Amino acid sequence: MITAGIDVGSTATKAVIFDGTIRSMAIIPTGWNPKETGRTVFLEALNNAGLQERDVDTVVGTGYGRVSLSFIDKKVTEITCHAKGARFLFPQTRTVIDIGGQDSKVIAVAEDGSVADFIMNDKCAAGTGRFLQVMTGILDISLDELGQMASGSKPVSINSMCTVFAESEIIGLLAQGVTKEAISSGIVQTIANKMISLTSKISCLEEITFSGGVANNPEICVILSSSFGAKFNIANQPQIVGALGAAIVGFENYRERGNKDAIRNVM
Ligand code: ADP
Repeated sequence: MITAGIDVGSTATKAVIFDGTIRSMAIIPTGWNPKETGRTVFLEALNNAGLQERDVDTVVGTGYGRVSLSFIDKKVTEITCHAKGARFLFPQTRTVIDIGGQDSKVIAVAEDGSVADFIMNDKCAAGTGRFLQVMTGILDISLDELGQMASGSKPVSINSMCTVFAESEIIGLLAQGVTKEAISSGIVQTIANKMISLTSKISCLEEITFSGGVANNPEICVILSSSFGAKFNIANQPQIVGALGAAIVGFENYRERGNKDAIRNVM
């Protein structure tokens, strides 16, 4: 049995081909046309696995842009998919922290793997990857460089709570001669603080798995992992956790029901 999961995020679109293990994956920028991007990333993941579309038993979509995908068999929320994906990678996961391009969320996972509760920030860019993208734009560095520069540097304090004001504050700090390293460290600290505050609003249990593109920043991982006093897992490829979860939902449904028409009917 082979299934596919496609996660059409606000910033990046991800696909995973799954056969009980992760067979292949692909990540591309979402761009302006999520429908076309969803199709492109699916074909890229198939190509990476050396498979054809007809080899795939069922395709499940997730992410904000899942509604635009016309070729999928089932749509599932990203909350469910992140919990599924995280539990597959780290079976003892009880809390998922996800920081994506335009939202961040904390998901409490019950002992049986189902979603017990969640909290989401989709109102304020300051706790999301968008914040990092805006700030690296001002510093004229890449996201990877931001991680390197932040590492081991003493953070300058960034007081503005809003991305737009933080942008002006950073321009001011640069004008005062504050180093990019100190500012990078301050940016990372700001986003980590936002996440710690969001996490405090939900009952957060051992063990925690960190997913989403922002988990590619090693410094944020260091700050968060030392903040919770719980086992803290970081996926090798944190961006594909949602797509992986979607592929697993497809895999479980197909195994239970035996054909994709049955899966479509339970949507
Ligand atoms: P979405 O599903 O909302 O599109 P993703 O989980 O795919 O979000 O993550 C996208 C975000 O990941 C981007 O906004 C970007 O800021 C962040 N990101 C990607 N790579 C890195 C990196 N190396 N360091 C920090 N952030 C990163």
